[in-house]
Amino acid sequence: MRMIRALYPGTFDPIHNGHVDIAIRAARLFDELVIGIYDSPPKSLLFDTAQRLALARECLAHQPNIRVLPYRGLTVEFAAEIGASVLVRGLRAISDFEYELQMAHTNKKLAPDIELMCLMTNLGYAYLSSTILKEVAVLGGDVSGLAPEVVQAALRVRLAELGQSGANVVRMTASTRD
Ligand code: ADP
Repeated sequence: MRMIRALYPGTFDPIHNGHVDIAIRAARLFDELVIGIYDSPPKSLLFDTAQRLALARECLAHQPNIRVLPYRGLTVEFAAEIGASVLVRGLRAISDFEYELQMAHTNKKLAPDIELMCLMTNLGYAYLSSTILKEVAVLGGDVSGLAPEVVQAALRVRLAELGQSGANVVRMTASTRD
Protein backbone atom coordinates (compact mmCIF):
# COMPACT_ATOMS: atom_id res chain seq x y z
CA MET A 1 0.00 0.00 0.00
CA ARG A 2 1.21 3.51 -0.85
CA MET A 3 2.29 5.58 2.10
CA ILE A 4 1.01 9.17 2.08
CA ARG A 5 3.14 11.86 3.64
CA ALA A 6 1.71 15.36 4.12
CA LEU A 7 3.45 18.65 4.85
CA TYR A 8 1.91 21.32 7.11
CA PRO A 9 4.05 24.37 6.37
CA GLY A 10 3.99 27.69 8.20
CA THR A 11 5.79 30.33 10.20
CA PHE A 12 4.71 29.10 13.65
CA ASP A 13 6.00 32.21 15.47
CA PRO A 14 5.21 30.65 17.88
CA ILE A 15 3.10 27.51 17.55
CA HIS A 16 -0.25 27.80 19.38
CA ASN A 17 -3.26 25.64 20.21
CA GLY A 18 -4.93 26.30 16.82
CA HIS A 19 -1.84 24.97 15.02
CA VAL A 20 -1.55 21.97 17.36
CA ASP A 21 -5.21 21.09 16.77
CA ILE A 22 -4.77 21.17 12.97
CA ALA A 23 -1.55 19.12 13.20
CA ILE A 24 -3.12 16.40 15.36
CA ARG A 25 -6.22 16.16 13.17
CA ALA A 26 -4.13 16.06 9.97
CA ALA A 27 -1.82 13.41 11.42
CA ARG A 28 -4.86 11.11 11.76
CA LEU A 29 -5.50 11.37 8.02
CA PHE A 30 -2.02 10.56 6.71
CA ASP A 31 0.70 8.03 7.35
CA GLU A 32 3.08 10.80 8.26
CA LEU A 33 2.76 14.55 8.81
CA VAL A 34 5.78 16.82 8.58
CA ILE A 35 5.45 20.24 10.18
CA GLY A 36 7.60 22.55 8.04
CA ILE A 37 8.96 25.57 9.87
CA TYR A 38 9.58 28.22 7.25
CA ASP A 39 12.98 29.79 7.79
CA SER A 40 12.49 33.25 6.36
CA PRO A 41 8.86 34.35 5.92
CA PRO A 42 8.12 37.83 4.56
CA LYS A 43 7.35 39.07 8.07
CA SER A 44 9.34 39.96 11.19
CA LEU A 45 9.76 37.23 13.78
CA LEU A 46 9.78 37.07 17.57
CA PHE A 47 11.48 33.64 17.66
CA ASP A 48 14.30 32.47 15.41
CA THR A 49 14.05 29.27 13.41
CA ALA A 50 15.80 27.13 16.04
CA GLN A 51 13.37 28.32 18.74
CA ARG A 52 10.27 27.90 16.58
CA LEU A 53 11.48 24.42 15.65
CA ALA A 54 12.21 23.42 19.26
CA LEU A 55 8.81 24.68 20.46
CA ALA A 56 6.90 22.85 17.74
CA ARG A 57 8.87 19.68 18.50
CA GLU A 58 8.10 19.92 22.21
CA CYS A 59 4.39 20.51 21.57
CA LEU A 60 4.06 17.61 19.14
CA ALA A 61 6.74 15.21 20.34
CA HIS A 62 4.13 12.82 21.75
CA GLN A 63 2.62 12.25 18.29
CA PRO A 64 4.26 9.18 16.75
CA ASN A 65 3.66 10.09 13.09
CA ILE A 66 4.57 13.79 13.27
CA ARG A 67 8.04 15.14 12.46
CA VAL A 68 9.06 18.78 12.65
CA LEU A 69 11.64 20.08 10.16
CA PRO A 70 12.91 23.52 9.16
CA TYR A 71 13.00 24.56 5.53
CA ARG A 72 13.88 27.46 3.29
CA GLY A 73 12.95 28.28 -0.28
CA LEU A 74 9.82 27.15 -2.05
CA THR A 75 7.34 25.09 0.00
CA VAL A 76 6.59 22.82 -2.97
CA GLU A 77 10.29 22.12 -3.46
CA PHE A 78 10.62 21.15 0.18
CA ALA A 79 7.51 18.96 -0.19
CA ALA A 80 9.08 17.18 -3.17
CA GLU A 81 12.38 16.79 -1.31
CA ILE A 82 10.71 14.98 1.61
CA GLY A 83 8.29 13.04 -0.60
CA ALA A 84 5.13 14.81 0.57
CA SER A 85 2.24 14.66 -1.91
CA VAL A 86 -0.20 16.78 0.12
CA LEU A 87 0.08 20.24 1.68
CA VAL A 88 -2.07 20.91 4.75
CA ARG A 89 -3.22 24.36 5.81
CA GLY A 90 -5.75 25.62 8.34
CA LEU A 91 -8.64 27.95 7.55
CA ARG A 92 -10.21 30.30 10.10
CA ALA A 93 -12.08 32.80 7.97
CA ILE A 94 -12.79 34.05 4.47
CA SER A 95 -9.65 36.18 4.74
CA ASP A 96 -7.56 33.01 5.17
CA PHE A 97 -9.37 31.45 2.22
CA GLU A 98 -8.47 34.24 -0.19
CA TYR A 99 -4.80 34.00 0.66
CA GLU A 100 -4.78 30.19 0.62
CA LEU A 101 -6.52 30.12 -2.76
CA GLN A 102 -3.88 32.41 -4.25
CA MET A 103 -1.08 30.30 -2.76
CA ALA A 104 -2.80 27.09 -3.89
CA HIS A 105 -2.99 28.26 -7.50
CA THR A 106 0.64 29.38 -7.38
CA ASN A 107 1.76 26.06 -5.91
CA LYS A 108 -0.33 24.13 -8.45
CA LYS A 109 1.40 25.99 -11.25
CA LEU A 110 4.80 25.17 -9.74
CA ALA A 111 4.05 21.59 -8.73
CA PRO A 112 0.88 20.17 -10.38
CA ASP A 113 1.15 16.82 -8.58
CA ILE A 114 0.96 18.22 -5.07
CA GLU A 115 -2.54 18.60 -3.64
CA LEU A 116 -3.66 21.08 -0.98
CA MET A 117 -5.93 20.02 1.83
CA CYS A 118 -7.40 22.72 4.09
CA LEU A 119 -8.84 21.81 7.47
CA MET A 120 -11.38 24.13 9.08
CA THR A 121 -10.33 25.56 12.42
CA ASN A 122 -11.72 24.14 15.60
CA LEU A 123 -14.42 26.67 16.60
CA GLY A 124 -12.68 27.17 19.94
CA TYR A 125 -9.57 28.48 18.17
CA ALA A 126 -11.20 30.38 15.31
CA TYR A 127 -10.00 33.74 16.68
CA LEU A 128 -6.50 32.57 17.54
CA SER A 129 -3.34 33.61 15.69
CA SER A 130 0.32 33.92 16.65
CA THR A 131 -0.15 37.70 16.46
CA ILE A 132 -3.04 37.64 18.98
CA LEU A 133 -1.10 35.30 21.26
CA LYS A 134 1.97 37.59 21.28
CA GLU A 135 -0.16 40.70 21.81
CA VAL A 136 -1.95 39.19 24.83
CA ALA A 137 1.40 38.02 26.23
CA VAL A 138 3.08 41.39 25.85
CA LEU A 139 0.17 43.08 27.60
CA GLY A 140 0.48 40.63 30.51
CA GLY A 141 -2.80 38.79 29.81
CA ASP A 142 -3.51 35.14 30.58
CA VAL A 143 -2.39 33.00 27.63
CA SER A 144 -3.04 29.66 29.30
CA GLY A 145 -5.84 28.62 26.93
CA LEU A 146 -4.03 29.82 23.84
CA ALA A 147 -0.78 27.89 23.69
CA PRO A 148 0.90 24.87 25.29
CA GLU A 149 2.86 25.49 28.51
CA VAL A 150 6.30 25.35 26.87
CA VAL A 151 5.22 28.12 24.52
CA GLN A 152 3.82 30.20 27.37
CA ALA A 153 7.16 29.84 29.19
CA ALA A 154 9.15 30.69 26.05
CA LEU A 155 7.07 33.83 25.57
CA ARG A 156 7.81 34.92 29.14
CA VAL A 157 11.54 34.36 28.66
CA ARG A 158 11.67 36.09 25.26
CA LEU A 159 9.67 39.09 26.44
CA ALA A 160 11.84 39.38 29.57
CA GLU A 161 14.95 39.32 27.32
CA LEU A 162 13.53 42.11 25.20
CA GLY A 163 12.47 44.18 28.23
CA GLN A 164 11.10 47.62 27.32
CA SER A 165 11.42 46.98 23.60
CA GLY A 166 9.22 43.83 23.82
CA ALA A 167 6.01 45.61 22.86
CA ASN A 168 7.63 47.26 19.84
CA VAL A 169 9.17 44.00 18.65
CA VAL A 170 5.86 42.16 19.03
CA ARG A 171 4.04 44.88 17.10
CA MET A 172 6.60 44.72 14.32
CA THR A 173 5.82 41.01 14.01
CA ALA A 174 2.05 41.63 13.87
CA SER A 175 0.40 40.41 10.71
CA THR A 176 -3.16 40.68 9.45
CA ARG A 177 -3.08 37.03 8.49
CA ASP A 178 -1.08 34.76 10.69
P1 ADP B 1 1.87 31.36 7.62
O1 ADP B 1 2.77 32.54 7.82
O2 ADP B 1 2.40 30.39 6.63
O3 ADP B 1 0.42 31.69 7.37
P2 ADP B 1 1.17 30.60 10.32
O4 ADP B 1 2.10 30.06 11.36
O5 ADP B 1 0.60 31.93 10.59
O6 ADP B 1 2.02 30.56 8.99
O7 ADP B 1 0.01 29.59 10.06
C1 ADP B 1 0.26 28.30 9.54
C2 ADP B 1 -1.06 27.68 9.13
O8 ADP B 1 -1.88 27.49 10.28
C3 ADP B 1 -1.90 28.53 8.16
O9 ADP B 1 -2.54 27.65 7.25
C4 ADP B 1 -2.91 29.19 9.07
O10 ADP B 1 -4.09 29.52 8.38
C5 ADP B 1 -3.15 28.06 10.08
N1 ADP B 1 -3.67 28.56 11.33
C6 ADP B 1 -3.19 29.56 12.08
N2 ADP B 1 -3.96 29.77 13.18
C7 ADP B 1 -4.96 28.85 13.12
C8 ADP B 1 -6.10 28.54 13.94
N3 ADP B 1 -6.37 29.24 15.04
N4 ADP B 1 -6.92 27.54 13.55
C9 ADP B 1 -6.65 26.85 12.40
N5 ADP B 1 -5.62 27.10 11.57
C10 ADP B 1 -4.77 28.07 11.93
